[in-house]
Amino acid sequence: AKARGRNGYQFYAPSMTGEGVERLRLEAMLRRSIEKNEIFLNYQPQVEIDTGRLIGVEALVRWNSPELGVVPPFRFIPLAEDIGFISQLGKWVLYEACRQMIRWEEQGLSVPKIAVNLSVKQFERGSIATMVADVLAETGLDPQRLQLEVTESVIMNTGDALAFINDLHAIGVGLAIDDFGTGYSSLAYLKQMPVQTLKIDRSFIKDISTDINDEAITIAIIQLGKSLNLSVIAEGVETAEQAEFLLRHGCNLAQGYYYSRPVMPHALLEYSQVKEPG
Ligand code: C2E
Ligand code: CA
Ligand code: CA
Ligand code: CA
Repeated sequence: AKARGRNGYQFYAPSMTGEGVERLRLEAMLRRSIEKNEIFLNYQPQVEIDTGRLIGVEALVRWNSPELGVVPPFRFIPLAEDIGFISQLGKWVLYEACRQMIRWEEQGLSVPKIAVNLSVKQFERGSIATMVADVLAETGLDPQRLQLEVTESVIMNTGDALAFINDLHAIGVGLAIDDFGTGYSSLAYLKQMPVQTLKIDRSFIKDISTDINDEAITIAIIQLGKSLNLSVIAEGVETAEQAEFLLRHGCNLAQGYYYSRPVMPHALLEYSQVKEPG
């Protein structure tokens, strides 16, 4: 805990909580994680439900800390955002993801598309479009094979979101709205945005067979996507029943444990035929 000194300046009292110390240690370790080669990516297949065809992968970041083991993103992305490390991390992720696409190609595996997540904080500093264009130029990946995922809240909470999104669109990359349905996106906004894809949040898919509200929302999002001419992909598909439900209601794209967990790059080479419904 912070205490105020006699002269009015602040210092960390010896009673500083264990949690505070722990956070500082984590912060210091995270700052060095890239240079120490502790950051890596997993890739999760995105598939066409009716054919099982691989249409793309989503890159998901991991931190392999010698002290902590493999740390999941929900434990370090918010920290990276707080300490101003997310730009560096985000650029590393994008570069690595694009490079991996080229590597797979050299190994004879054609992955049509790669999806990469962007953090709201990456929109706050400088031109994100310039960063993306630089990475594409350096790696040689065709912009059309890159899809950037931003959450609804990023779009609604970033003042110049539309300008940034337009800049990204101008480079030729695809844009997806992640976790769709959980934020408070205005449909008017959606109409203005040059996005191509809506990702239905996992929370709606989870209870599809038991919760009629979740079913209704899922169907509504699929319909909305259709009317706006967007492609719709469902995340968190874990069962054949969920896949069948989606297909029946006109959503033919899915991602989830039913098809594959996020995997290391070499595992995707062995990824051949995936499940067909039923
Ligand atoms: P997200 O973008 O919504 O990513 C999907 C998350 O759902 C991933 O968790 C994935 O492993 C998990 N998932 C996929 N299929 C299933 C399923 O069938 N069932 C269940 N229960 N979970 C499933 P992960 O990898 O732990 O990532 C969590 C979040 O961390 C991501 O959510 C994303 O918001 C963030 N994240 C991951 N990588 C990055 C990154 O490179 N940059 C940024 N800014 N955020 C990232
Ligand atoms: Ca995502
Ligand atoms: Ca998501
Ligand atoms: Ca989600």
